[in-house]
Amino acid sequence: MKVLVVNAGSSSIKYQVVDMTDESVMAVGLVDRVGIPGTTLDHSPAGKDKVTIKKDLPDHTAGMKLVLEVLINEEYGVIKSMDEIGAVGHRVVHGGEEFAASVVIDDAVKKVIKDCFDIAPLHNPPNMMGIEACQELMPNVKHVAVFDTAFHQTMEPANFMYALPYDVYEKYRVRRYGFHGTSHFYVAHRAADMLGKKYEDCKIITLHLGNGASMAAVKDGRVVDTTMGFTPLEGLVMGTRSGDIDPAIVFFLMDKLGMNSAEANNYFNKKSGMLGLSGVSNDLRDILEAAASGNERAKIALDVYYNKVKGYIGNYMAKLNGCDCLVFTAGVGENGIDIRENICKDLDFLGIKMDVEKNKVRGKEVDVSAPDSKIKIFIIPTNEELVIARDTYGLAK
Ligand code: AMP
Repeated sequence: MKVLVVNAGSSSIKYQVVDMTDESVMAVGLVDRVGIPGTTLDHSPAGKDKVTIKKDLPDHTAGMKLVLEVLINEEYGVIKSMDEIGAVGHRVVHGGEEFAASVVIDDAVKKVIKDCFDIAPLHNPPNMMGIEACQELMPNVKHVAVFDTAFHQTMEPANFMYALPYDVYEKYRVRRYGFHGTSHFYVAHRAADMLGKKYEDCKIITLHLGNGASMAAVKDGRVVDTTMGFTPLEGLVMGTRSGDIDPAIVFFLMDKLGMNSAEANNYFNKKSGMLGLSGVSNDLRDILEAAASGNERAKIALDVYYNKVKGYIGNYMAKLNGCDCLVFTAGVGENGIDIRENICKDLDFLGIKMDVEKNKVRGKEVDVSAPDSKIKIFIIPTNEELVIARDTYGLAK
């Protein structure tokens, strides 16, 4: 069976076609600026050159229609007809408390995804647009929802409850959910394989460090805790998100800068983090370069970043009562040699010792711990699309 994986954002649609007979990727692509003048589709068929199509598209249905045309195109398509696609897997950011696993989408599932619009206003509405566009164009195949939150649903109240009046949990579902679940799931399972242990017997700390960043503590196959919270804003310092701050700063700056709640949301999600602190960029490559040429703010931003991650390593080591391995993944985790080294520096009292020579590697699945490190340090490139394709195949076949 071939599975189409769809990740629909507010103005973009990412897709992959995966052949489940050998899990090979037949094509990857991105439609950018959907509904905005200047729409482009970049399509990369396996083993062939990338094709770029420029064509203004009013909405996600038009975007998906173009994707399907491209997939069956005689010259650069990868399938003969749409009948070859056996199922579609959709990334859905928020499944609330209802979904601890992926599900075949029916009307009841769509209602739950819509019920989560108020707690995930930036993500679930575009995800739903992607689902509805695909259902309209491919009504005869199963569509599966794979949730970013599902993997974290094993958390206990001790870690998912906030110290707020209890009724805001009951009335408004204010609690920690956690995100990047498919990535944490994938690398935690790969880490167990690399440890040569059963996944259910491991204690693993996963560090998904990308433009968005989160960590998870996994014990006996269950997520114990994760850094992102009610929304992806909590936790680590990210490209443009502040991560943890004193919540009183929000009210203070709303008054000082005359921001309403939507403006404040934008400020802490889009203008803060490494971008706000360094004044250089949200991209750690630029910040490393600036720091190397003496930019003090860039140096401070990096130190804040390292400290925050180190703090959570300690936090999670305490909550797990030790751990078997740390796993670095995502753009920064897979490629940021200096960043991994600085995070792991001076953690030998916890049994964490990196081999800095082995660490000089990018985007490879590798053990970079020193021979005498009690805790393994792995780099594992993430593969969220594969998790979505596998879940979709499993539910559709
Ligand atoms: P992601 O969100 O997982 O795609 O990660 C994207 C981020 O990875 C970029 O914004 C960069 O900050 C970071 N990144 C990519 N390559 C490197 C690198 N060589 N060194 C440090 N950071 C990197």
